[in-house]
Amino acid sequence: MTLHDLLNDDRPHVFDGAMGTMLYQNGVFINRCYDEIVLKQPELVSRIHEQYVAAGAELIETNTFGANPVKLAEYSLDAQTHEINAVAAKLARDAAKGRALVGGAIGPLGIRIEPYGPTSLAEARALFRQQVEGLVDGGVDFIILETFADPSEIREAIGAVRDACDLPVVAQMTINEAGTTVYGTSAALCAQRLDEWGADVVGLNCSVGPHAMLASVEAMAAATTRKISAQPNAGLPREIHGRKMYMASPEYMAKYAQRLIRTGVRFVGGCCGTTPAHIRQIADAVHARGRTASPPARRPRTVSRASRSRADRTSARSSPRARSSRASRSCRPRASILRRCSRVCSC
Ligand SMILES: [Zn+2]
Repeated sequence: MTLHDLLNDDRPHVFDGAMGTMLYQNGVFINRCYDEIVLKQPELVSRIHEQYVAAGAELIETNTFGANPVKLAEYSLDAQTHEINAVAAKLARDAAKGRALVGGAIGPLGIRIEPYGPTSLAEARALFRQQVEGLVDGGVDFIILETFADPSEIREAIGAVRDACDLPVVAQMTINEAGTTVYGTSAALCAQRLDEWGADVVGLNCSVGPHAMLASVEAMAAATTRKISAQPNAGLPREIHGRKMYMASPEYMAKYAQRLIRTGVRFVGGCCGTTPAHIRQIADAVHARGRTASPPARRPRTVSRASRSRADRTSARSSPRARSSRASRSCRPRASILRRCSRVCSC
């Protein structure tokens, strides 16, 4: 079985839920490098993968969301980029036992790239490639790029995958309550761009919970013929008695999984705050629906010129002069927002 088999069977399919949330619930404190856990406590990571497969996940993700050389360098682990990714991939494969496909998870680098920061597009692509090569050597079935906010950055990540292998790519952005990335790009235009750049599946993850994701996913489905994925978080966390709690129950997530599928989503799962209990309810709801109805047929619409020009400002390659004028625009994301985005999602 391959991702292409799932793409062609006209049925909805279920991703797993959060890995970071589960590691935290199992006592891994947040000052640790979560990606290194595949070396330090491989049995814990394997057990979580197994719980998701038992709950009904047909696609699971490696514990490598932050396993790029930039983020690993914060723990002096950048020299082990290849090893961590390869071991994580093998752990997931062994845990899946052929009952689920394994996606190699790649998140943002955690630094700003041009024109917002000093790292060039070519440097970003080379950094992503190190992670891709480890995941491929470990035997993943596909690559999943997730929680990206900067269209230019995910374009380089897609390019790194294409440079290194011919595996299918799932490409997911993250949005805010307004339905755009922090760079101001609409979900619909993200879908068009990801499609043009060669992603096999395009979608959203993390963000602001399933309800807010619904309208944006519908706009994406209208803007591309690629299959759509949605992995919302369990709402934004609230502080209760000093602990961060996610408030969306498994039943609530399952109800929205059905709604997401009615809007055209073909791959549904969960991000931060979701657990095997959420995935079990989602799988039950999705498969109950799959027995009675197929997802709706979709016809792509062209994104409006006004919307396109917004994204062109943020995502297209342009002259140094245009880049420098763009950098001074008010839509430039604040550093605090970028830090929060990369920290909040542990996927
Ligand atoms: Zn997340």
